[in-house]
Amino acid sequence: MRLVVLGGGESGVGTAILGKKKGYDVFVSDFGKIKENYKEVLVSNGIDFEDEQHTEDLILNANVVMKSPGIPEKAPIVKKLIEKGIPVISEIEFAAPFTKAITIGITGSNGKTTTTMLAYHLLKSAGLNVGLGGNIGKSFAWQVADDTFDSYVLELSSFQLDGIKDYKPHIAVITNISPDHLDRYDYKYENYIDSKFRITMNQTEDDYLIYDADDVAINEWLKKNKTKAKLIPFSLTKTFSEGAFIKNNIMEISINQEEFKMDTESIALEGKHNMKNAMAATSVAKLMQIRKATIRESLSNFQGVEHRLEKVLKIQNVQYINDSKATNVNATFFALDSMNTPTVWIVGGVDKGNDYNELMSLVREKVKAIICLGIDNKKIIDAFGNVVDIMVEVTNMNDAVRMAQRLTEKGDTVLLSPACASFDLFENYEDRGKQFKQAVQNL
Ligand code: ADP
Repeated sequence: MRLVVLGGGESGVGTAILGKKKGYDVFVSDFGKIKENYKEVLVSNGIDFEDEQHTEDLILNANVVMKSPGIPEKAPIVKKLIEKGIPVISEIEFAAPFTKAITIGITGSNGKTTTTMLAYHLLKSAGLNVGLGGNIGKSFAWQVADDTFDSYVLELSSFQLDGIKDYKPHIAVITNISPDHLDRYDYKYENYIDSKFRITMNQTEDDYLIYDADDVAINEWLKKNKTKAKLIPFSLTKTFSEGAFIKNNIMEISINQEEFKMDTESIALEGKHNMKNAMAATSVAKLMQIRKATIRESLSNFQGVEHRLEKVLKIQNVQYINDSKATNVNATFFALDSMNTPTVWIVGGVDKGNDYNELMSLVREKVKAIICLGIDNKKIIDAFGNVVDIMVEVTNMNDAVRMAQRLTEKGDTVLLSPACASFDLFENYEDRGKQFKQAVQNL
C-alpha cells in the first residue's frame, strides 16, 4: 500500500511516521520548503520525501493520500488525485483506525483552543491517561504511532473535518459558528456550516454532541438535519433538563441524571464567551465521569491560553489585555463585551470581510479611543469615525502601545483585539501578541 503525504509539517510528518510503522510504502511531498527538523525526522525514519516540488509520477500512484489541512482542495495536485479517484483524507481520518482510544473532537469558529485546553486540563488533572492533539501541539497521528494514551482531546478545524470519511469522535463539541474562512468554501456560509457538522456525521446513539444552543446557525442546522448522537446543549439564556446553563450566576450541568453546580465567580476564566467554553468543557468532563471536586478545582485554577484575552500587566492602574487571537468580529465582540472599564481598543489588520455593525453598540458603550493598527484602516474609520471621538492610525506595535498609554487614565483598559488577520504587519497572530506584550513591558 502506497501512502503519499502532501505537506511536510507537523501533521504530515506525524502521518508519515505512523504510516511507516504500519507497513505502508510512504512518500512525503511538499510544494514549499520542509523545515530542517522535520527533514531530520524523515531521514532518521527512512521515509522518502521531496520539497519545493510535487513530482506527479511519485504522487499519482498512491493508494491513499493524506492532505495537510493547509492545502486547499483547489490545489492542482489535489484536483488531479480526486479526478483519478484516489482517496484524499485528513490526518485524523488516517490515524483514528490505528488506536482504540476514545477521542473527544472539538470544533467551532471561535473557542476551539480554549475549550480543548480546558477539557484536557479537566481530564488530565483527574488522572486520566489523556493526550492532546489536532491543531494543537504534537500531531495526533504521531501520538498514535507511539500509542500510549487511552483518550485524546482533539482540536479539529473545518479543514481537518473536510478530510474525514469514517472518523467519529465519541464526544463532539461545536463551540459556535460564525462566518470564517469562506474563501475555502466557495464564499457560501452553508458549506462552512456543513463542514463543521461533519464532526457528528458518523456518530451513533452511544455518542454525544455538545453544542451552543444560543447559536443561530447551529440551531438551524439541527432543525433541518439529523444526528444520531445524544444532544447536550449549553446556553447563557435558556435552561434544560439535560444540558448546561447559567442561572443566577451559577453554572448548572445535568447529564445522565447527575447534577453539577458551581458559582461562576469561582471559575478562573472571565467573560461570557468563556462561560460557554467552561460549560462545554465541563460537559465533556461529566461525560468522562470526572469527580465534582476535581472539576471544581480545575475550573478554579485554569488561567486561559496565551493571546486569548490574556491579562498582560497593570501599569499605573491601567490593565493591558492581549487578545491577538481575535481574528474575526465574533471573537472581538466577546472581548469588548467582557470589558468593565473605559477601553482603548487596538484593532485592524487584514479584514476577512468584516461587518463592524455588530460591534457598534459595544463600541459606543465601552470604547473611549480607537487605535488602528493596519495598512488599510478605511473600513474601521468609516464604521466608527462618528462613534468614537479619538481615532489614531499607527503602523507598528510600539507606536500603538505608546499611543494607547497616552490616551488612558487610571482605571482604564487597553485591549488588543484586532478582529482581523495579522499578516499585513506581522508574521502571525502569535508574533502580533508577543510584540504587544514586549511593547507593554517596555513602557
Ligand atoms: P479558536 O481555536 O477557535 O480560534 P481560541 O480559543 O483560540 O479559538 O479563541 C480565539 C478568539 O476567540 C480569542 O480572541 C478568544 O478570546 C475568542 N473566543 C474564545 N472563546 C470564544 C467563544 N466561545 N465565542 C466567541 N469568541 C471566543
